[in-house]
Amino acid sequence: METPKNVQKNIMSENENKSPIKIFSTPKGLNVVKSPVKSIILSALREKELSFDEIVGVTGKSKSTVSVHLKALSQDGVIGSKTHPADQRKKIFFINSRYIGELNQQEVREREEEKVEFLIKNLINKGDPFEFFRLMFHTLRVVMIKEGVNLDPILNQTGMRIGEVFYRQLENKKTGELLKNLADFWVSNGLGRLEIENLNPITVWAYDCFECGLLPNVGESACALDAGILEAVFSAHLSQKIIVNEIKCYAKGDKYCCFVIESLDGLSEELSPD
Ligand SMILES: [Zn+2]
Repeated sequence: METPKNVQKNIMSENENKSPIKIFSTPKGLNVVKSPVKSIILSALREKELSFDEIVGVTGKSKSTVSVHLKALSQDGVIGSKTHPADQRKKIFFINSRYIGELNQQEVREREEEKVEFLIKNLINKGDPFEFFRLMFHTLRVVMIKEGVNLDPILNQTGMRIGEVFYRQLENKKTGELLKNLADFWVSNGLGRLEIENLNPITVWAYDCFECGLLPNVGESACALDAGILEAVFSAHLSQKIIVNEIKCYAKGDKYCCFVIESLDGLSEELSPD
């Protein structure tokens, strides 16, 4: 999967203009990555292990520049390296830390202030414990978005932990039955209403989504927790690592959220259920 150099340059210059600060948790503690080149290296390594030459190709930077960045990331404990199995003289680099989130300093979202006020007013008026905690969750999240903190990776990990536990209750060898159990679970816990739109690839629509239904239109999908739950449930069900793409979301201005379950290689036919 070669990306032409000129396309790569465009990606780089876009990233250099508005690259947010990324935060990683390493064995040595938290590490804050500001450099756009480092961000690109880490994004690529989050997908798979890469050799030095492959990293040079991905960044479109000179070997000496890449070498300096790799050395710094290794010293900080963000990445690690090992000998290439096919060539003793070469190294393979891998990520040695967890992606926690990012800070976007340039973007101040004034609209969010109104939303915070709206949510807090509702929080006081409802008098329903479930609604209270739901609104608390939203308020916390909107305040963080307003302050430029994106905690989606942590929400996603939390969702995966929840999904692993849910799966034991919902488990059924037949995909249709599992989806039915999941939909029942969603309704009985007030998480919204799920509709199964397609089985190949597995496509789920969520109405009245608890996670994003009250979020402001942030222009992008926001259901990192839901996606994490679905990811864990279907990874366990299909006995393979899958990814969940939220292609529609209330937070993007859509009328429902739409999750598509895909295999890690994008080979959806492999996921065709029984
Ligand atoms: Zn959503």
